[in-house]
Amino acid sequence: MEKKQLIQDKTILVIDPNTKLENDKTFCFWASENDDILNDYKYLISHEWSNIQINDNSEESINPLKYYHINSIDLYDSCRNLAQKRNITILEKKVLSVEQKDQLHIKTDESTILCDWVFDSRPPDFKIIKNNKFYISQSFFGLKIRLIDAHFKQDVYHMMDFRVAQQRATQFVYILPYDNQTGLVELTRFGEIIIDKAEALNILDEFINNHYGNYKVLERESGAIPMSSLSPKTIKNNRWVDIGTRGGNVKPSTGYAFANMYKHAQKICSNGQLKNAVFSSNSRFIFYDQLLLIILTIWPHKGKPIFERLFKVKSSKFILKFLAEKSSFGEELSMFTNLQIGPFLKATVVWLFWQVKNYVPLIFLILYAAFGSNSFTKNQTFFNSFDTCIVVVGLLLVGIPHGALDHLTEGLVKEKKVTFKFIVYYLALMVPIFLIWTYAPLMGLIFFLVYSAWHFGQTDIENWGFSNPILAFLWGMSLLCFLFGTHFKEFNYILKLINVGGIPDLVNVQYWSYLFLIWPLFIAVYKQKWYWIGLIIYFFLAQNLGLLLSFGLYFLVHHSYTGWLDLKNRLQFSHRKMFIHALPFNFGAIFLYWVLFVEMGQGIEANEAMFLVFLSCVSFPHVICMGNFYQKNRLRVS
Ligand SMILES: Cc1cc2nc3c(=O)[nH]c(=O)nc-3n(C[C@H](O)[C@H](O)[C@H](O)COP(=O)(O)OP(=O)(O)OC[C@H]3O[C@@H](n4cnc5c(N)ncnc54)[C@H](O)[C@@H]3O)c2cc1C
Repeated sequence: MEKKQLIQDKTILVIDPNTKLENDKTFCFWASENDDILNDYKYLISHEWSNIQINDNSEESINPLKYYHINSIDLYDSCRNLAQKRNITILEKKVLSVEQKDQLHIKTDESTILCDWVFDSRPPDFKIIKNNKFYISQSFFGLKIRLIDAHFKQDVYHMMDFRVAQQRATQFVYILPYDNQTGLVELTRFGEIIIDKAEALNILDEFINNHYGNYKVLERESGAIPMSSLSPKTIKNNRWVDIGTRGGNVKPSTGYAFANMYKHAQKICSNGQLKNAVFSSNSRFIFYDQLLLIILTIWPHKGKPIFERLFKVKSSKFILKFLAEKSSFGEELSMFTNLQIGPFLKATVVWLFWQVKNYVPLIFLILYAAFGSNSFTKNQTFFNSFDTCIVVVGLLLVGIPHGALDHLTEGLVKEKKVTFKFIVYYLALMVPIFLIWTYAPLMGLIFFLVYSAWHFGQTDIENWGFSNPILAFLWGMSLLCFLFGTHFKEFNYILKLINVGGIPDLVNVQYWSYLFLIWPLFIAVYKQKWYWIGLIIYFFLAQNLGLLLSFGLYFLVHHSYTGWLDLKNRLQFSHRKMFIHALPFNFGAIFLYWVLFVEMGQGIEANEAMFLVFLSCVSFPHVICMGNFYQKNRLRVS
């Protein structure tokens, strides 16, 4: 921004609780003589190396590249100087939240600051990313040492030395010699468990003693970098820019970030104007990173032989080119065919399963709508016996349980348990709905449809990475209108059953209803939201099913399951723990059903009105709880 003269005329505030007065990390990168990154950061570079060594193999030149080193403290100091020069204020506070209103509102424990642009580098929580199964850490523990007897090779960056215990992870030592006597010797672990400092110290001590003899410790450094190929949702607001790790700048398979952060900054400031440019890798390289992460997560002991073989069959120069994502597909193919094929094939199978897994409910819905039931062609409003089995199993497995966990959302009270206060609030929210239904059934129905539309829409739209309540409501309303329009006779029949009265026949209502799916289809295609497109295909095919079945399948297999996973993901609970929490309410719901519809001997159809009113009353507090839950847990306002 300074280089492009984009900060002179702005009032800037940097908020960070950390004073940044320590040399807490190094920023290394490789570049050739003419690269912009080198020219822009030359003044900060403290060391450079022209050769790379792996294990005790002989060193290799990486000419025309060089490996460069910046001390983090030098970068921090340079930023501090710039802040002084440009009158930038630094506030040592923690940001509690950022919220988009008319302006961006940044909350600290003392004040709320309003601004036009936010560059947000708060560390993201990778654990809460859905289906982020192959997420490990790169953790370090390093010693800056002075050798007493031996010497380092001053012009050699010792990139990976696997001659250390692997401890059910992939571990190696790297060495950055600052001169022939001092250097940084760092143990690095790719693994699920962060390296233990005491253990790392022992391993390093043994390594240094074995290969270099006596030494003196000058400084220590430690840290961890997330290795995840999935990034948290990026903010869609134009003036709220995710940067650093939060902006997806860390290469998942290596932990290198500095060069990517530089590229991202260039994109943000391109054309001499600030813009919210998203940083993303080429999908081919994302795939390679994911394969490696799968291997390192499931078969961590394979890491060492794979890296060792890689550096045997390919030159270090090529590997740096590959890591910088500048290699060609042909070169990559030749590299992979020279590596151990077994782990990569197995990882590809795991990858395929991982990708398809998310789509299983959707595929089920589409296949069921296309081939599964003939209930509609037989003109049944209610289900045939097979449909009934599917719906009952769905209700017991996920439909009822997903609504039985509202106490965990902290939507009504600030405790994650069923308290007396929670029950009172819950019931108090049901009462007005019951009264509306009793005294004005039409109003009750309209109200029910409006908040249902909001709830269905919100669940979907949040999951597809939007944060737009109008879009959420319109989508929810459209899907309901499409279902009712394409099952008009049944809808009318139900209206009569619930004492609301029928709607006069509308000409070609079935065809007009398609309009409700056309606009979302455009957005889904434009935004490449494949799940949304699939769901629209389901609704289109669901004209083959009865109204209640098509809605029921959507509700159970898509909506309830999505809500269940959202809760599971945020709470970091197992399915078992979720079921245990839901159990009392599940039993309660089954008991109520038994009393109302079995014991009284009339069945749902005869008690349609009663069933709908009951459903409407219990779903209102649920909608409120989930609404609060989504709003609170949205990444962009966390
Ligand atoms: C030991 C170590 C060595 C590394 N070596 C290299 C290397 O050689 N080459 C390379 O390319 N990459 C390297 N990396 C990786 C990468 O460059 C860094 O992780 C990089 O600093 C990531 O930038 P960031 O802005 O996302 O995170 P950080 O640099 O950690 O900055 C995040 C900042 O946000 C602040 N913060 C946190 N919460 C809040 C809050 N609520 N409100 C306000 N501020 C907050 C923190 O105090 C911190 O200052 C290394 C990382 C580590 C840990």
